[in-house]
Amino acid sequence: MNKEINLIVKKEYIVEYKNGYPLITKEPVANWSLASKEGLIVNLLDDKKKFIAKGYYGIQNKGYGWILSWQKDEKIDADYFAKKIMSAAKYREDFFKDENTTAFRVFNGEGDGVGGLTIDYFDGFYMLTWYSIGIYEHKEEILEALKSTLEYKGIYQKKRFDAKGMYLDEADDFVWGERADAPIIVKENGVNFAIYLDDGPMVGVFLDQREVRKTIREKYAKGKSVLNTFSYTGAFSVFAALGGSSKTTSVDLANRSLNKTQEQFSINAIDVEKQDIIVEDVFNYFKYAVRKKMLFDIVVLDPPSFARSKKHTFSASKDYVKLLKEAIEITNKNGVIVASTNSSNFSMMAFRDFIFKAFKELNGKYKVEESFTLPKDFRVADKFKEGDYLKVVFIRKLK
Ligand code: SAH
Repeated sequence: MNKEINLIVKKEYIVEYKNGYPLITKEPVANWSLASKEGLIVNLLDDKKKFIAKGYYGIQNKGYGWILSWQKDEKIDADYFAKKIMSAAKYREDFFKDENTTAFRVFNGEGDGVGGLTIDYFDGFYMLTWYSIGIYEHKEEILEALKSTLEYKGIYQKKRFDAKGMYLDEADDFVWGERADAPIIVKENGVNFAIYLDDGPMVGVFLDQREVRKTIREKYAKGKSVLNTFSYTGAFSVFAALGGSSKTTSVDLANRSLNKTQEQFSINAIDVEKQDIIVEDVFNYFKYAVRKKMLFDIVVLDPPSFARSKKHTFSASKDYVKLLKEAIEITNKNGVIVASTNSSNFSMMAFRDFIFKAFKELNGKYKVEESFTLPKDFRVADKFKEGDYLKVVFIRKLK
């Protein structure tokens, strides 16, 4: 791909782009109609046609492409991507060396200089996720770069092309090298995870919650009853159980969650029989728990940003207060709610407001024990802080 196009940036946006803002959107561009084919290299020029930066055109939920370089003569080729991957790997040196953690993010989109692409590491295997056709158009150079810079057993990919980031189901997500077992067993702080690299959109674990899981295990779980809602493969339950919880209850709507959670427990030598795994709508489960007057010491809330079940539609930005209120009702006094969201639609400040509102409406009292955003390997660009979507707050219920 050698054709390039020029986009003229409106005056009021020039400084921002010069200073390193990486996302290309429509509003700042005066002659937008030029951008046509995804993957094209675009040059951003100022009102006097002087070069500001170059990037690629690719339609994504967030915008229309990403800046790749602020140097006019830098070519966007395999060497360019190799440099980016190398420095990303260097930044994660500690992770590569850590034998107790063999799953982490190696490359985090614009945080590592190339928006629209993430690369995760699973014990020698690499998983590329493409967030637009535009970045996927550069697949050959990126693969070449990856192969020449990192040692690998095999390479897999997920395509999340459409504007909502939905997974595009392929017959096969395998790309190159050796095929991985299904599952491979990776480690996170010494705990085992079963990872399926070629089994739909999700591989079995969300790596961005590593610090939260560790914290639950080390500081909160001992002797406590734990309710894990939207539990997926039960990762929080596993860490709670290993931290000495008296019992865990995992609730998820998806049928697959039962087997997957049992598997997670058993590969960590936890007695599955002593844990509850319930396939049900969380909102029904809350009603059941209230009816049975059940109370938990720890309640984990980790809903998707948006979900539709048969009876309910949940949107984090609209419904989190309600979700919190349901959780507060079934949490013991002095118990802890771990409230999490990966919604990029609102800030940590707004999230803290949701918490305030939920307790206020119930006439309750609380104390925030600690909070988390993305971990180090999920690197965030200085000039694109909105890339830090994760918000997790440990809330102690006082009344
Ligand atoms: N907490 C998990 C990740 C959650 S992913 C972890 O740490 O790994 C979101 C999960 O919510 C999915 O598994 C999905 O099946 C589930 N889900 C979505 N809506 C739900 C609902 N109404 N009730 C129960 N589970 C739901």
